[in-house]
Amino acid sequence: MRYCNACGHGVDFRVPEGDHLERHVCGRCGNIQYINPKVIVGVVPEAEDGRVLMCRRNIEPRLGLWTFPAGFMELGESSGQGAVREALEEAQAEVEPLDLIAVINVPYVSQVYLIHRGRMLGTHFGPTLESSEVRLMREDEIPWDDIAFPTIWHSLKFFFADRQIGRYSTHTLDLKFRPRPPQRAEVSGGNI
Ligand code: ZN
Repeated sequence: MRYCNACGHGVDFRVPEGDHLERHVCGRCGNIQYINPKVIVGVVPEAEDGRVLMCRRNIEPRLGLWTFPAGFMELGESSGQGAVREALEEAQAEVEPLDLIAVINVPYVSQVYLIHRGRMLGTHFGPTLESSEVRLMREDEIPWDDIAFPTIWHSLKFFFADRQIGRYSTHTLDLKFRPRPPQRAEVSGGNI
């Protein structure tokens, strides 16, 4: 970041008075440009027969690996609204958002994941620009070794474990270590 987003003047990278972290501070108008973590919203869409909707990524990163609909939260929307939007954008699926199944902190990339359960409304779904393939899967069909991100892997595990015992709750998890590539070795090792 080189220029002030308020006045266009050059910025300094320094600790503002009364703060404790370095920020981009404008040398002319004093505007401070804060950079904060990003929120990713997602949904595990469940069909009437209990299968969940999975998408094969058609975009980098993790091209060709599997996820449920999830993406960056937009300004002005709730996590549930974002989850609904992602299901439409990535899987052409209409989903009703239910409670959060997972809140996952990923400090090594400054991200927070808010993952909802969701109920599929209707039976329509299909591929999109972001998903080369969209499929309903039973638990035993989930490609655990080919899941795109550890956050997605853990959220699915929480979902199926809760469904198994018939009681859903919101699970919180802090991921401490950046997985080493390749992702699939990390996931199948179960040490993430
Ligand atoms: Zn300025």
